[in-house]
Amino acid sequence: MKRSERRTLVLNASYEPMAVISSRRALLLVLNEKAAVLAESDRLVHSAGRVYTEPDVVLLRQFIRVPRKSVPMTRRAVLELYDYTCAYCFKHGNTIDHVIPRARGGTNTWGNVVVACTKCNCKKADRLLSELGWKLPFELREPAPSVATLISKRWKRPAWAEYTEPWAKASVLELAG
Ligand SMILES: [Zn+2]
Repeated sequence: MKRSERRTLVLNASYEPMAVISSRRALLLVLNEKAAVLAESDRLVHSAGRVYTEPDVVLLRQFIRVPRKSVPMTRRAVLELYDYTCAYCFKHGNTIDHVIPRARGGTNTWGNVVVACTKCNCKKADRLLSELGWKLPFELREPAPSVATLISKRWKRPAWAEYTEPWAKASVLELAG
């Protein structure tokens, strides 16, 4: 990873994921006591004769109010939000399931879609979860802008996982590095 590409996840004081910024900028937030380190990386940086460890995850000391915009719901955005994981068996999934089936009046909105594997999707068909005795392992919600981009491939670091799982409170805005 090039130095300019190192990224740190920033959590709001409420622990909600809030932004992904350059690790250099994140380190400055820590040095200026605006943020605390929750997870360190194994990357060292040398600055002014000192050695610092770049943070993987930082927590802002003060809560910042983040305005919410709605995110267009696309197949890809749903798959990425839930990391291609079937909501019912946790195996790899690449189909979209309407929790309340469309045939039963379910809407095509963030509040009613999850990822399902083909097997679970077929089994579920036009039935309600209560009819199958199934339960969702998390609350459905609409992601904030860029949550899909953030959680997916490019910047993702192992230390972020516990803070960016969809059932953790996810409201992420990607800020310029
Ligand atoms: Zn499944």
